[in-house]
Amino acid sequence: MSDNAPLIVAIEGGGTKFVCGIGTDPHNILDTARIDTTTPHDTLENVSHWISKMKVAHGPIAAIGIGTFGPVDLNRDSETYGYITTTPKPHWQQTDVVTFFKNRFKVPVGFDTDVNAAVLAEYLWGAGQGMDPLIYITVGTGVGGGVLVNGQLLHGLLHPEIGHLIVPPPHNSLAIQREGQCPFHRSCVEGYVCGPSIAKRWGVKADALPPDHPAWEEVADVMGYALMNLTLTLAPKRIILGGGVMEQPHLIPLIQGKLMQHMNGYLSVPQLSHDIERFIVKPGLGGRSGLLGSMALGRMAIANKAL
Ligand code: ADP
Ligand code: ZN
Repeated sequence: MSDNAPLIVAIEGGGTKFVCGIGTDPHNILDTARIDTTTPHDTLENVSHWISKMKVAHGPIAAIGIGTFGPVDLNRDSETYGYITTTPKPHWQQTDVVTFFKNRFKVPVGFDTDVNAAVLAEYLWGAGQGMDPLIYITVGTGVGGGVLVNGQLLHGLLHPEIGHLIVPPPHNSLAIQREGQCPFHRSCVEGYVCGPSIAKRWGVKADALPPDHPAWEEVADVMGYALMNLTLTLAPKRIILGGGVMEQPHLIPLIQGKLMQHMNGYLSVPQLSHDIERFIVKPGLGGRSGLLGSMALGRMAIANKAL
């Protein structure tokens, strides 16, 4: 490790905690901290206080990278660039995150969604190396997805919102609540497969369901449709599935099977037959992809000083 590699602060902003780290690369993380997500004011001040302490301990920082829950405004021409915008999370609507850190620390600030940060880290250092396009999906408290195409994180009208892809309702569902649970859509992915949706539909928390419970077949069925739609639209070379619900070890093989079943032989590529275990995979960086991706966002901010 070169002594003069720039020191980056990485911040992974989540609904329950902000995970922070300081270092130069994934193999050289000097310190980390976990700060509770409360009000925007208190949370950002606490993160800022931690950064100031880190500067005293480790020296000047070159950039800050932030990957956060959203929706966020990533359009550089927008007046609300760098904001967390219409989140349902109480108090956090229209929070200007980027300006807060830029004004406080006078360094370039990289900013993106937590899942775009995750896909970037998996591409650089994890299970998606050399795989472009690459998709990272988290199935946890919600369902989110980040997409990397042509070496760039995908932004446009907004950023990918993979959790709200529409899927057919599970056929002959055995759930207590058969309906999808998203307040916006009758039959979207998140309404069936995120942890809270599973708990509402089956009356049991996702982590307490046994592996042979019929809920998992339905989760896999819905995920299979989502992955089919993504495969057909974005032509990914690999899709990475992370998040708490994906901790169930039997789920990935079930999802692989459903994806092939739904495709029904339409595409004849190894990734959708004997090579599917290398197409739909677990994260290579475990739970660290959000934080490490935020570090990569900080590095990129140095490269394009426009930030
Ligand atoms: P977040 O999405 O808030 O970042 P997680 O990815 O850990 O956090 O997701 C939390 C959700 O995942 C909860 O709804 C929880 O019930 C579910 N979950 C956590 N661990 C497991 C597990 N081993 N099996 C199934 N569901 C789990
Ligand atoms: Zn929805």
